[in-house]
Amino acid sequence: ITILGIESSCDDTSAAVIRNTTLLSNVIASQEVHRKYGGVIPELASRAHQQNIIPVIDTAIKEAGISASEIDGIAFTRGPGLLGSLLVGVSFAKGLALSLDVPMMEINHLQGHIFSHFIDLPDRELPHPRFPFLCLLVSGGHSQIVLVKDYAEMEIIGTTIDDAAGEAFDKCAKVMGLPYPGGPVIDRLAKEGAPQRFKFAKPSVDGLDYSFSGLKTSFLYFLRDEMRDNPDFIEQNKADLCASLQSTIIDTLLNKLVKAAKQYDIDEIAIAGGVSANSGLRNAVAAEGRKRGWNTYLPEFKFTTDNAAMIAITGYFKYQRGEFAPMDIAPVSRIGDFSKTE
Ligand code: ATP
Ligand code: FE
Repeated sequence: ITILGIESSCDDTSAAVIRNTTLLSNVIASQEVHRKYGGVIPELASRAHQQNIIPVIDTAIKEAGISASEIDGIAFTRGPGLLGSLLVGVSFAKGLALSLDVPMMEINHLQGHIFSHFIDLPDRELPHPRFPFLCLLVSGGHSQIVLVKDYAEMEIIGTTIDDAAGEAFDKCAKVMGLPYPGGPVIDRLAKEGAPQRFKFAKPSVDGLDYSFSGLKTSFLYFLRDEMRDNPDFIEQNKADLCASLQSTIIDTLLNKLVKAAKQYDIDEIAIAGGVSANSGLRNAVAAEGRKRGWNTYLPEFKFTTDNAAMIAITGYFKYQRGEFAPMDIAPVSRIGDFSKTE
């Protein structure tokens, strides 16, 4: 089975080809236009998707070494994301599915992040988590602990009540005057810094839920106070600030993940989403796993942030179940609980 995946939910236009679970190509066009605004401008994003989508899909098919007629189904991101961006991918998927006379699969972007763990590379199989497993899904818009029971059945057992972890990274980076997106920049700077140097309040939220908006505020106030005495405070302490901030976020994430693992008695633990690229988080999850006897699954770097390979693999599983999308399907910007199909 050969599946073409299309992802256009935010600011990356991506297309990928998968044959069964093996990735044949994964092309990503990242939009640079947003950088100078310090965030994604929706109107510019949809316009860039419109320009990128044909060359990106064309390249993905070429790099896979197949012809379009070999495609058995088309998987596309239906949501959540920016409506104007999603529309470009959804419309293109419909047009192509009609012309090739193949079925379409609508994919939830967040399920895509999770199922990126089931992609294999042409030269090697990757370790796949066994069901049921827990997935810490940490991205720019979401921070959740998901109990994944099966390819089609999952349950969100913890979620952020305000900001996502990636948002906390990005907003705190902005406060320090670092470029967007701030997560990778903080990751890099943190490597040179002392994580115990500054202490920031950790949120106390019941159960398995997260909260990150308080951290952002306390970080802002802390810097404001310090800069009153020393205007160069940020410049002089950048690495320590990044390391301390990152370690606060990681401790918070791990704390609930450990709690969830105990509560559900599960030792298959995966992480996914853009923040799962964070080297500190990866090291911390691996170390915690060794201590607790978990089997830990850290995604390949190229599958952490948005990509179409994760959409294609999720589409492959839907194709096998015969779950096809109707031609009048529309994108949705928000999906309350992605574990339930509407
Ligand atoms: P969602 O998946 O929730 O819809 P999104 O698709 O915009 O949101 P992703 O592409 O999965 O999010 O992830 C982007 C986020 O990951 C950004 O917030 C970015 O700062 C963060 N990120 C990427 N690399 C790192 C890193 N090395 N350390 C920390 N954060 C990172
Ligand atoms: Fe994403």
